[in-house]
Formats: sequence, C-alpha cells, structure tokens
Amino acid sequence: MGASKEDILSENEALNTSTNDSSESSKTNVGEIDFIEESKKYRFSAQKKHFKMHIVIGVMFVIFFCFRLTEKNASIEIENWITLGLLFFGQFFDMHYARRKYNESGFLLRAIKIFNMAAAAAFTASFKNDGIIVMCGLSCYILMVIEYLECIEITTSEVKERVAVTSGVLLAATYVIAFLFAGVKFSLVEFVILMVIIALSMYAIVSQVYNHIDQYVSYINKLNQKNTKLGELNENLDDQSRKIKDVVELLGVQKIELSKAYETISLHSAEMELNNEILNIISEQRDMVKFVKQVTETVSYGVEGVVACGLFIDGIMNSPVFPLVNACIVRDKDKSIKREFLANANEILDEAHHFDTTYKVDVGTFPALYQCLLNASVKALMRVQVQIEGNMCGVLIVGAKDDKFFTDETKNFYYNIATQIGIGINNANLYVTMENLATKDGLTGIYNRRHFNKLFNDYVTDAMDKKLPISAALFDIDKFKNVNDTYGHSFGDLVIVTVSHIADEVVREHGGILGRYGGEEFMMAFLNMTSEELLPIVTEIHERIKSTELDHNGETVKVNVSIGVTDYPNLCSNLADLLNHADWAMYYSKQHGRGRITVDSEEVLKEVVM
Ligand code: GH3
Ligand code: MG
Ligand code: MG
Repeated sequence: MGASKEDILSENEALNTSTNDSSESSKTNVGEIDFIEESKKYRFSAQKKHFKMHIVIGVMFVIFFCFRLTEKNASIEIENWITLGLLFFGQFFDMHYARRKYNESGFLLRAIKIFNMAAAAAFTASFKNDGIIVMCGLSCYILMVIEYLECIEITTSEVKERVAVTSGVLLAATYVIAFLFAGVKFSLVEFVILMVIIALSMYAIVSQVYNHIDQYVSYINKLNQKNTKLGELNENLDDQSRKIKDVVELLGVQKIELSKAYETISLHSAEMELNNEILNIISEQRDMVKFVKQVTETVSYGVEGVVACGLFIDGIMNSPVFPLVNACIVRDKDKSIKREFLANANEILDEAHHFDTTYKVDVGTFPALYQCLLNASVKALMRVQVQIEGNMCGVLIVGAKDDKFFTDETKNFYYNIATQIGIGINNANLYVTMENLATKDGLTGIYNRRHFNKLFNDYVTDAMDKKLPISAALFDIDKFKNVNDTYGHSFGDLVIVTVSHIADEVVREHGGILGRYGGEEFMMAFLNMTSEELLPIVTEIHERIKSTELDHNGETVKVNVSIGVTDYPNLCSNLADLLNHADWAMYYSKQHGRGRITVDSEEVLKEVVM
C-alpha cells in the first residue's frame, strides 16, 4: 500500500535500466503494456460498480423528490425544472457517454464532472426554500465532488483520508447551509430519510474508493510479481551475459593462441621452404661461387624477419677464389652495406676461428666488424661456424631486424642450415676434386690430354659451324732427359710444373686452352685466332720460359722449349690434321737447333713428313 503508481513505474524503469543492453527494450515494453492494460481493466470494473450505485441513488432521489412534491404540494418554479433538467442531463451524459470514454479520462470527462457539480449546486440553490430537496441536492453535490476527485485520478492511499475528510466536511457543510441559508425546517422522518440517503451515498463513495484501492493493491501485487519475475529473468540474463562474456574472453584467448600458432606455422613453413631450397642448391649447384651467392640470397629472403646474410668460406682446397665470400642484404640498393661487410671478410673469418661454435650479438654490443649491418636495420646477429667433418671451413652470419628473433628454435634452425651449407660446400669441393681428377693433370693442374682433346673437338665443331679459324701450338722441353739425369726426377717435376704454369697463365689471359700432351709436351689451342695472332702469344710464353731461373741447391737452372705453330684454315686446311701440323712444326724446331718457334709451312711438311 505504501507505493504509488508512479513509484511502481519508476521502480520498474529502474529495474529495466539495470538490465543489460540486449534485454532492455523488450523488458521496458512488457512493463509498459502490462501497466496500461491493468489500469484500464481496473478502472472499467470500478466504473461498473459506480454505475450501479448511481442508479440506486438516482432512483431513491427520484422517489423522494416525487414524495416531497406530493406531500407538501410544493410549488415548482421554472428554475427548479431547469436545474433538475441540467442535473439529469449531466447524469445521463455521464452514464451514457462519459462511461464509455471513461478509460480516456480526458478533458470531456472532467468537464462533465464539473458540469454535474455545478448542476447539483444550482439545483440545491434553486430549492433554497425546501429543506429536504436542498439536502438531496447537497448529497448529490457531494457525490459529484467525489466523482470529480476520482476522475482526476487521486487514487493513492491518500484518497482514503481525503474521502473521509472531504465527506465529513461536506456533510457538516450540508447541515450548516441547510440551517443557515436555506432556513430549512426538517421533520424527524424527513431527517432520517435524508440521513439514510446521505449514508448510502457515503457508503457508495467509500466502498467505491476501497474497491479502487483493492484493485490497485492487487494490480500492484501483480506488478510486483512481474517485477520479481523480471528480476529473475534479469538475473538469468546477467548470468547468461556473464557466461557469454567468459566465452568471448575464452575465444579471445584462443584467437590470440591461434594467431600465435599461425605465426609459428608460417615461420616453420618458411623455414621448411628455405630448408628445401638450400637442399636443392646443395644437390644441384656444383659451382662454389654460385653456391655461396644462392645460399646468402635464399637465407636473406627466405624467412620473414631476416634482413641480412653473409657466408664466408675458407679452408677449401679447390675453392676458385680465396676466401669464398658473399653476402645478401635486404634493402641495400647501392650494395654499399654489402661491400663494407665483405671488406671485413678476413677479420670475420679470423674471429670465427676463435669463438666456440655460435653466439648472438645483441644490440649495443655490436662489434665493429658488423657495425655496417646496423644500417640494414639489423638488431640481432647470429654467427654459426660452417664445418666439414668437424673442421671449420667458414662462417654463416644471419642478421634479423627483431632483437628477439633468435629463440632456441630459430637458433637450431640456423645451426641446421649451417650444417647443410657445410655438406653442400663439401659436396661441391668433392665434385671439383673428382672433376679435376678426370680432366686435369695431377702434376701440373692443367688439362690432361683426354680432356684437352674433348675441348679441342668442341672448338672444331664451333669452327665448322661458325666458320671460324683455330690456331694451335705445341711445345716440348728441350733435352729434358738431361735435367732429370742431372738434377733428379723431382727437380724435373718442378721444371714441368713451372713451365706449365707460365704457359697456363698466358693462355688463360688470351682465352685459349692448354693441355699436357705428354711427359714434357704441352699443346694449346685458340678458337677464332689465326697463327699470325697466336705468334706473339707463343713468343711471350717462349721468352718467359727461357728467362725463368730455377734454383737447384744454389745452382741456377734454365730450360728452353721447341715450339710449333699452325692454324686452320690458312696453314692446315684439314681440321683433323691440325694437331699433327703443330707437332710437325715443333719437330722442325727440334731438328733446326731447338729453343725456337716454327710456323707450319709447305717447307716444314716437305722436310718432316715426306
Ligand atoms: P728433346 O730435346 O729431343 O726433347 O730431348 P729430351 O731429352 O727431352 O727427349 P725426350 O722428349 O724423348 O725425353 C723426355 C723425357 O722426359 C723422358 C722422361 O723420362 C721424362 N719425363 C717424362 N715425363 C716426366 C715427368 O713427369 N717427370 C720427370 N721428371 N720426367 C719426365
Ligand atoms: Mg723433350
Ligand atoms: Mg718429349
């Protein structure tokens, strides 16, 4: 009973706003619709009871009005009829129109109630000389006042007190007005009858108000029940939303874990790809220079986060260059960082020999040798020895742009890469060794006769296809038996090696091929060169050999060679005979005093062959 409709509404509203966003709108609507519906029902049922009371009181009023008219032979003036008419019209209108529109409780209803109050007052006043009708009019007036109060919706618990006070005051006023202003004299019977009417009116009004209150209480109870249910529903919803929040949080955590896993998988797949590429290079690349270049490029671009790679190889027997180095720096357009980095190759290799196997260089402790890599955004560095069968043959350097790039896992990965590089280098080295064994002479390192012949045949094919000249020369060390006999076989070997190296240097310089043709006999050939062009080259070789002084236990030893020169197609028109022509020309030199150059000619042929 303590809560007003407004209180309930605001409580309901507060309840709704306390729920979470998702359920707010639906619950507010439920509350509002319920309240309006309930309010309409309660007001309509109250009005129905009220209507019955109206009829009872109206009928009694008519009975007593008629009784009064007949008993006292009262003269009824025109204003009495008019005010009576107004009163009935007001009641009729109230019952038949206003009751239907009661639920709207609008301006019209209020106007009718006021009209009824005025009509009751006017009626009472118009019978001011007749006490009993005045009493009737006043009781009617009370009814109208109460109706008005109800119409303007004073329906809280205060109504009870107000009705009691108002009816008491109005009742007292009735007596006062009747006695003082209307000058009414009542008979006892009339007074009792009037009291009954008034009591009935009061009962009707009070019971109606109580009825209102009961209805209202039951409505509020229903509303409370609904609110309790809503509260439970809200709690459920809160529970659910908490669970959803937990699930969302869990999902968030899982999402983070998934993205971490994805990153790891991406890294691993990049690493696997890099591994495969390195394996491909190892299995396919026999050229060590290209091998080193491909490895550094693959490592630099293979894994996200790596921005530099350097590979420095020494200690390889068959390395074509020494040391064998290359580097690949991501975002180094003018290759200035690479140049600066490679300039330190010897120091880097030297240092690599002194550290155990690997270690990381952190930012801030970058040794001077790697300072240039800071310009390539390198934040962390890993250096791994490249080993062949446990012996260091070089170092792999990997630079990453993130200082936390090298975890135990990534370190392991690059250890493996370094191991594979070691295997690759070893393979390439073995391959070169095998190739050398097959193609080169063991003592001098120049091509053996078999391989020279193979290369010479390639020249022949090219010469025929492209109509190019070939020139060839053959030379033999003079009186070599004497060298062996005088200084020993190993000194003889040294002479052969020295002579071959001089010839090899000059022949390479001019783009030809040189082979050891026999014991101390050497053959050279040049594609797209005539004997006239070859002659100065051969002369240079001859001069250098002649002037070379070899030391044998303090004694200076010099050797000379006999040389024969020919070419195709000028001097020899048949390619199959070209080497024979050179041989014959050389033989001619031997025959004519040794230590000289003979160019192939008819004369040579005539003398040597015929
Ligand atoms: P000529 O001026 O006529 O060529 O006289 P020569 O003494 O050089 O005669 P020849 O060409 O017949 O002799 C070649 C000698 O070279 C025979 C052989 O013992 C020697 N010889 C061949 N191969 C080697 C080698 O690999 N090492 C050494 N020390 N001697 C070799
Ligand atoms: Mg000889
Ligand atoms: Mg010989």
